[in-house]
Amino acid sequence: MSSSRRTSPLPKNWAKLRHRTLVAYGGRCALCDQSARQVDHIVPAAEGGSDELDNLQALCDPCHNRKTAQEANRARHAKPPAAPHPGMLRHATEGMDDVDS
Ligand SMILES: [Zn+2]
Repeated sequence: MSSSRRTSPLPKNWAKLRHRTLVAYGGRCALCDQSARQVDHIVPAAEGGSDELDNLQALCDPCHNRKTAQEANRARHAKPPAAPHPGMLRHATEGMDDVDS
């Protein structure tokens, strides 16, 4: 395995996922409502997005190209953390329970 993280390999059932996403969006781009041919990860796989249907959207070519360019640009500027620190994943919801009863 190389450590390149440009894109993750597509899942084995990608053809089916892709088709189901296009059907779910009625063949329309999620952003501009033009006819869509691309299926895009809403949260890019390289940023931890899943291959589930709820992370997929249909996009037309121009919107897909623009989003891909933005993601590439973002990846260049903000290096992904080498390894997420296990202790940092959950503490967002703690300490909010100060209700007076
Ligand atoms: Zn579009």
